[in-house]
Amino acid sequence: MPFEDNYRQKGLRRALVKLLIEKGISNAAVLEAINTVPRHIFLDKVFLEHAYQDKAFPIGDGQTISQPYTVALQSQLLNPQKGDKVLEIGTGSGYQASVLAEMGVRLYTIEQSKYHYGKAKAYFRYFKYQNIYSFLGDGSKGLAFKAPFDKIIVTAGAPIIPKDLIDQLAVGGVLVIPVGNKEKQEMIRLRKVDDKKITKENFGNCAFVPLVGHNGW
Ligand code: SAH
Repeated sequence: MPFEDNYRQKGLRRALVKLLIEKGISNAAVLEAINTVPRHIFLDKVFLEHAYQDKAFPIGDGQTISQPYTVALQSQLLNPQKGDKVLEIGTGSGYQASVLAEMGVRLYTIEQSKYHYGKAKAYFRYFKYQNIYSFLGDGSKGLAFKAPFDKIIVTAGAPIIPKDLIDQLAVGGVLVIPVGNKEKQEMIRLRKVDDKKITKENFGNCAFVPLVGHNGW
């Protein structure tokens, strides 16, 4: 999987970071990670022109790599700190996972599609990420045997906030999840204040591919 990351691609990445700042992303660690991860390698070579536009893109098997703004927004809402134990549901291309790994978290990521699981795993190995642990399975139930997590990020649209995910959050933990119907969702940030209390904030409309599985569609 040898790939090139030349001055042109680095320049396109810097321009993308500038655009994300204009769109309201202010978390320096998020912006730095986006400036570092070569998004173009997660797309087929012929789509190089598209890699650094702020657009979602088909990655095969009916799935998409999220729009850079969406990746940046979810990362900013999650606000991961170095060493945090984070669960991502919906590995997809592996791009969001790589951005979080660059931020120094311990990233557990789960994907239901064997095709994407295998492909993303090969990227993680190629980039020698020591802090990404990838799993194949139904992430709508979380990853109980590795719980609790400081932060959980769901990158597919859910019909409800699965109780399993709240249960697998550490006290003080944060869950970022798009909730709604199959076409349109709202970006929700849930905080587990203590064992009995949670708070929820709404960060507006978004559109993800559906979360499938036990607690999904
Ligand atoms: N984070 C990804 C975006 C992936 S799109 C990226 O950076 O590219 C959403 C992904 O969620 C798809 O790959 C889909 O297969 C996966 N998905 C949907 N339901 C799932 C479930 N119940 N468990 C695990 N993965 C799921």
